[in-house]
Amino acid sequence: MADELIVSVSGVRGIAGGSLTPEVARRFGCAFGTMLGGGATVAIGRDTRKSGPALREAVTAGLLDTGANVVDLAVASTPAIALTTRQIGADGGVVITASHNPAEYNGIKFLQPTGTGLTAADADRLKAIWQSGPFALAGGGERGSESQLATAHTTHVAAVLDVCDVGAISARGFKVAVDSNSGAGCESAAMLLGRLGCNVIHLNSRPDGNFSHPPEPVEANLGELCEAVRAQGAAVGFAQDADADRLAIVDEKGDFPGEEYTLALAAAFVLRKRKGKVATNLVTSRMIDDVAEEAGCEVIRTPTGEANVVEALCANDCIFGGEGGGGVIEPRVVPVRDSLVGMAYVLQYMAETHQALSELVARIPRYVMIKTKIPCGPDAAVKVSAAARKAFETRGGAVFNEADGLRIDLGDGWVCARASNTEPILRIIGESPSSRVAESLVDEVRGIAESVSPEN
Ligand code: MG
Repeated sequence: MADELIVSVSGVRGIAGGSLTPEVARRFGCAFGTMLGGGATVAIGRDTRKSGPALREAVTAGLLDTGANVVDLAVASTPAIALTTRQIGADGGVVITASHNPAEYNGIKFLQPTGTGLTAADADRLKAIWQSGPFALAGGGERGSESQLATAHTTHVAAVLDVCDVGAISARGFKVAVDSNSGAGCESAAMLLGRLGCNVIHLNSRPDGNFSHPPEPVEANLGELCEAVRAQGAAVGFAQDADADRLAIVDEKGDFPGEEYTLALAAAFVLRKRKGKVATNLVTSRMIDDVAEEAGCEVIRTPTGEANVVEALCANDCIFGGEGGGGVIEPRVVPVRDSLVGMAYVLQYMAETHQALSELVARIPRYVMIKTKIPCGPDAAVKVSAAARKAFETRGGAVFNEADGLRIDLGDGWVCARASNTEPILRIIGESPSSRVAESLVDEVRGIAESVSPEN
């Protein structure tokens, strides 16, 4: 991927020292301080990437120049920074992280006082101030102050313990393997699992940013964890991404059922105890629909992007939500994806049912999900959607959702084609209990896209 600074609703991302320089970061600090107004309090934390301290310093300098008071939370997970932002009554938050992206990347994410990401309107406003100013800089004596707060982990772990049954989990004394990949989740994962009475085999447990594998918690990066689960006879394996908002789960045999299972398992646990609505995005597996249907609960589908899921979750009083890539959202902790909540809920599910993780996985209907992407600009993507809709309109029972690209639901599967927000590509995702059906749905939409989109 070319090194281009990406400024989107989710924040800023680029290669540290390449497109993402301290000067870019300092200007974003000035822009955020300007947007919040003089004297604002801003919490800031970071993941463990080597470029983190310099970028934190640069954003902080920009904020202080506008008269903002900065509370430094040091290394902490995204959910811990979000929760602390809310708890201390800050006017905004900043997370220095590139999440699951490779080590050379970094990013800046901006938070509302609630701990959730900025609205699309505020993200646009921030970008405009960053690009064109003017910055509302404070006079010499009015520069903001800086303080430190080292309680983000403990605050977060306490909030997670509050929503789970510590006694029921502890009584089982689970042996748990966890791979924090030297990311921001190291300390809080150890703290949480210790408090839950687990016997912890902690891989890559030093929060020093020396990633032992690429940070995305997907199958290709879970080899070390799967092996540790097998070798040590653990009941379950957990893997966190670099900012610890995403979680992958490995069963007691050392097998990875797939990243979509994190949300499905957590939802199955939540909905057997409490009834209410669930929010997730359009490309999350149908497993969530099966789990919700069994519990008699409703699923609300949103455009992709965590901010869209959180907005729908809050607007509809959902009790739970998340995204298929391992992002579990428990609004009683903080309406942000949270790997610790995922761990606690899966352990409690195992404790209460006395079933092995592979048995809990087997209770959920299995699907095959196929993902592909083709080069395609945003204008062509609109034409692809229209052509695909026309092609599928004659199929009996086809249901269309155009909230984000086009999703077509058929009796035996679904397919979604949507333009990426950050690259000129069209993502095509299909899912069915049958791999043949999933493949043919994706192939059919890809064929339509290739015939419509001139750049192919
Ligand atoms: Mg992440």
